[in-house]
Amino acid sequence: MKVYYSIVEDYNLLERRNNLLDLTFDNLEKYNRILIKPNILGPYPPDRHVTTHPAFLDWILRYLIEVRGIERDRIVVGESSGFSTERAYEVSRIKDICEKYHISFLPFERDRSVKVKLLNTSLVISKTVMDSDLIVNLPKLKTHVLTRYTGAVKNLYGCIPGGLKPKLHKHFPREQDFAQLLVELYRFLVKGREIVSVMDGIWGMEGNGPSNGRPVNSKVVIASRDALALDILATYYIGYNPTDVLTNRILIGKRYNWKDDLDILEVGEDVKRRDLKDVPRIRFRKPLTFYLTSILPPFILKLIFSTMIEKPRIDRRRCRRCGVCEKICPVGAISLNNLEIDRRKCINCYCCHEMCRFNAIRLTRFL
Ligand code: SF4
Ligand code: SF4
Repeated sequence: MKVYYSIVEDYNLLERRNNLLDLTFDNLEKYNRILIKPNILGPYPPDRHVTTHPAFLDWILRYLIEVRGIERDRIVVGESSGFSTERAYEVSRIKDICEKYHISFLPFERDRSVKVKLLNTSLVISKTVMDSDLIVNLPKLKTHVLTRYTGAVKNLYGCIPGGLKPKLHKHFPREQDFAQLLVELYRFLVKGREIVSVMDGIWGMEGNGPSNGRPVNSKVVIASRDALALDILATYYIGYNPTDVLTNRILIGKRYNWKDDLDILEVGEDVKRRDLKDVPRIRFRKPLTFYLTSILPPFILKLIFSTMIEKPRIDRRRCRRCGVCEKICPVGAISLNNLEIDRRKCINCYCCHEMCRFNAIRLTRFL
């Protein structure tokens, strides 16, 4: 599992690291349809560091078009945000970059879709995703209140259009089940096409990510043709034991020698081979939800679940009544009439926390 990383302090310095892309992308001429999949979680401006930075996409497009000579009509940028993809595309300034290079942007909700059955559940995937023979996956380095971390494997969840994403939490309410869904989706997608991931970790997010944590200048770009290798290195870099993250754990499976399978290369002016233990680390603060779920075994968690696990609550002073949380809650637990969350219905998927742009969903533990 080959994985490259570079320490890059600022987006202005990316041009110097074209050698990282030279190593990551092989013969690009063989691909007919290239889909670029950034993380545009919602309508957040670049300085919130929730979405893939426009300068990062600029770097990738400039490299593909100007350095590698890929024709523009073979490339499309596509995404489905949690809500309002069109607006997210504008506010995140990804639109400006697509326009600069005359590349089309496709909100997957507007695309045709293909029905797929995964884990006995029917879901749909954008047809453009299915028709692509290369996905250039551009995740953002962030912690996540439900999945602990969001990276290369998780970013592909955005290939499912629109409102279906939060709804699937109803079918996969437990963290373990949801992680299994993410893994099956990744396995399904990678079977039919190549997925090359290049992570924007120049600025990442710690704490209660993926949208309401704290931005951190984490100074790293990680790239791999193997999403698991990228996620292992990224989670190690931010201070996790990589197997703390369930998608990593499931994909590693019984490969007890997974550390030996990693081939880590640090790309600077020269390229140096590194052991995992020699990779520098920037330890991110973990989400509030991480500690209990990592310390206690599942059967104890089940017993205390209703009392001690962090639950969402609407902060009335911050809430702007935009209605997003009410709309996306998969079990209809939120009422904006009285700004209450029905705790008997809530399945703790944290979609409301993830989608609230105003940080008005608080996570509190009730004893
Ligand atoms: S809690 Fe957040 S998402 Fe929900 S209505 Fe208020 S501002 Fe909107
Ligand atoms: S209230 Fe929030 S955490 Fe609870 S089920 Fe609805 S979206 Fe998920």
